[in-house]
Amino acid sequence: MASASAAPVARERTYIMIKPDGVQRGLVGEIIARFERKGYKMAAMKLVKPSTEHMEEHYADLKDKKFFPGLIKYMTSGPVVAMVWVGDGVVAGGRVLLGATKPSESAPGTIRGDLCIDVGRNVCHGSDAVESAEKEIAHWFPEGVAEWTSHSESWVYE
Ligand code: ADP
Repeated sequence: MASASAAPVARERTYIMIKPDGVQRGLVGEIIARFERKGYKMAAMKLVKPSTEHMEEHYADLKDKKFFPGLIKYMTSGPVVAMVWVGDGVVAGGRVLLGATKPSESAPGTIRGDLCIDVGRNVCHGSDAVESAEKEIAHWFPEGVAEWTSHSESWVYE
């Protein structure tokens, strides 16, 4: 039987960020609850007011898009909640919880499908691949993340 100090099993990680509109609209608890209820494990969380430079690096792949200046202005307009979540298939699974980039194309039951309307105010970010997740985690959490074993591990995984 697992003890309280058992070494955590290494599982996939993703970077999830509640955007300034999600924070301003009081959706932090709602979004965290959806990841918790699914069975994913939180490994890091902090509220930060990111600099323009930090956010431009996060979205570097989109720098040639027409909406890039507006995206950076939006994303630096207030604090964000930066988080790392852990679990088997959590990168793709996190994107399922989020819904499509455009809320109008997001199914009911998803975060974006339930909680927002405009693509430019879509409340939450989630990494789109394992490689980008690890890059984003290093960018937002250079100090590292918590290693711990959840007591419900054996009730979430066979
Ligand atoms: P996702 O966040 O779903 O991974 P992208 O990486 O394509 O989507 O885009 C990053 C973010 O840029 C989106 O979440 C959204 O906030 C913004 N964005 C994407 N497309 C548009 C658009 N056409 N107009 C305004 N903002 C956009």
